[in-house]
Amino acid sequence: MIRYVSTRAALNTDAVSLSDALNVGLAPDGGLYVPQSLPQFKPQDFSIASTLPAIAKILLQPFFSGDALESELNSICDQTFTFAVPLTRLPLANTYALELFHGPTAAFKDIGARFLAACMQRITCNGARPLIILVATSGDTGSAVAAAFHRVPDIRVVILYPDGLVTARQAHQLGCFGDNISAIRISGTFDDCQRLVKQALSDTTLRDRLPLSSANSISLGRLLPQMSYYAWAALMHWREHARELNFVIPTGNLGNAMAALLVRAIGLPLGDIVLATNANRTLSDFFDTGEYRAHPSIATIANAMDVGDPSNYERLRWLFPDTQLLRQTLRVIAVDDVNIRATIAMGESRYGAIWCPHTAVAMHVLEALRSRGTSGDWAIVATAHPAKFEAVVEPLIGHSVAIPSALATLLARPAHAQPMRADYAELRAWLLQNGEL
Ligand SMILES: *Cc1c(COP(=O)(O)O)cnc(C)c1O
Repeated sequence: MIRYVSTRAALNTDAVSLSDALNVGLAPDGGLYVPQSLPQFKPQDFSIASTLPAIAKILLQPFFSGDALESELNSICDQTFTFAVPLTRLPLANTYALELFHGPTAAFKDIGARFLAACMQRITCNGARPLIILVATSGDTGSAVAAAFHRVPDIRVVILYPDGLVTARQAHQLGCFGDNISAIRISGTFDDCQRLVKQALSDTTLRDRLPLSSANSISLGRLLPQMSYYAWAALMHWREHARELNFVIPTGNLGNAMAALLVRAIGLPLGDIVLATNANRTLSDFFDTGEYRAHPSIATIANAMDVGDPSNYERLRWLFPDTQLLRQTLRVIAVDDVNIRATIAMGESRYGAIWCPHTAVAMHVLEALRSRGTSGDWAIVATAHPAKFEAVVEPLIGHSVAIPSALATLLARPAHAQPMRADYAELRAWLLQNGEL
């Protein structure tokens, strides 16, 4: 049975169940929940499974064991993994793309958000008032969470996003749900939104009055399911080629990358993991110098990765407490907008692929690795559909990008968002007023 502790707590103190960790989101001391111990797997443990949901059920079982949700894990997986997550071969030797963008809002965050919603739906709330889920988003998280929780009974979702710093289509997707979903556009950056959410979640007097939780990438309910597609891809590759698959992961808050690192840590055949960031250089500077210094986030065309203080950094340090060892184990490469644009522009002619700016960050990094002589089998992680970022992509490729039908349905709905200053007192007052309805 695995219990969960805060990254800031001494080992084995204040361990909570998975359901409790999911319910509160952030640990009371401000740290992030992590498993008290990690299970160990071998590829043979999965020999009866070959689909993504079947692998997820085996992989996640120890993380659910002993929890009230344990008997629900299979149905949670079936409810989450309803769309394809293909590992496609690119027209280049030993090179693949793990496509995570075939869900309802066309970004990888659909997977974590749907799993979290499936869990929360099954955790009985003891209060009479609905649970309020707060989420800060730089674009894709909010719409994935909104789509996943839309019309789920007894749950309200409040989304904070930086006004003017998400694309028109992203803003539309955030504001188009209505019903139990509220979108708030903050005059500030993503880091301001994230700070406001963290402040609310650590405001114990507010939480005494309102049942609050979070759906950010700090939530275990998002981190755990993200492990599934790495396990699936690595196992399928291993079965076919008897070689490890290496990954380049477009990285912002380190949620997606943490999932890959955990899958490797529990014994599955993942090889190298290279993190690709945009011009927000907090992580690459840390890997260069050994010193972690958060920076204000800067706006780039890969805006879902505009993060100056990655929220999962504490989990990274929990898994790798030794700085030197961490710097030897993992690499981070930062890519500026000029190179992102160039990679998108040549994608069709060189690879027959149209990439979103985030996926292009990973592709640029893989090309850099290859040009330095890196061999082996590599997959770039394709995190969003290019149609979400048409204003960047279309001028570069010279034609329009077809919109996936699920996304088209959302864009056809009217949208509304409430304006607010980046001021905690204002958010608190709004929550008290609206949360008690
Ligand atoms: C959120 C997001 C990322 C970054 O993922 P993290 O888990 O925050 O590192 C990359 N690409 C896209 C399209 C995203 O939406």
